[in-house]
Amino acid sequence: MIDIVHLQDPYLRKLIKTKKQTAIIPIGSIEQHGPHLPISTDSDIVSEIARRISKKTDFLMLPTINYGVSSEHFPFFNISVTRTTLQRILIELCISLWKNKVETIIILNGHHGNQNALHNIPKKIHLLSKGKVKVSVFSYWHFMKRDFDHAGFVETSLMLAISKKVKMKKALKGFTTNGLSKKQKLQANKLASKSFISVARNGVWGDPRNATAKEGSKILSEIVQSFLKESNLPY
Ligand SMILES: [Zn+2]
Repeated sequence: MIDIVHLQDPYLRKLIKTKKQTAIIPIGSIEQHGPHLPISTDSDIVSEIARRISKKTDFLMLPTINYGVSSEHFPFFNISVTRTTLQRILIELCISLWKNKVETIIILNGHHGNQNALHNIPKKIHLLSKGKVKVSVFSYWHFMKRDFDHAGFVETSLMLAISKKVKMKKALKGFTTNGLSKKQKLQANKLASKSFISVARNGVWGDPRNATAKEGSKILSEIVQSFLKESNLPY
């Protein structure tokens, strides 16, 4: 694993000179995750996935961007930046990596609300660098079989597997889509992306009560393995 914040300049520059490097930038959020998970949940999960990917591939792991676009969680607690700010930070980081001769970049996303800020970045960087820099954007839940939730079974299991910050005794059942039609599910998704509380009254999407660390470890391995198989990146 290459966690760049622990490395020194001469070592890093030599590494980049010797071999073409791929950098991975994890992005999370600081937002409510119900009464039982910490506000750092998305950042914690995406950092761990990036760490595991870097371990298998030797990608340069950059520090996680802990702030994301989470204002849809208001009036629940969230510390957010706007879509344009997040996009700008990422574009500037990619340009800076390019100046340091790192030309393959992965943006690994851990929060649903960040997605709109991310999808144009590969094209923008391609234009700005005249095709020299390749950026790929992935949201980690696309590499798992289970449905993504918010502080439900999946996120709670993932957190139990990687963290001691979970308060299982406080876990409450939240909004579930069981029995809803496809159309109703889409409507709920759309509304939640603007105002989460309008759909999930207690801030939880899913049911975390049966979450386990064992299941979380399984889901984590599945994500990392599928990522390595499907992302088509050099390593
Ligand atoms: Zn989350």
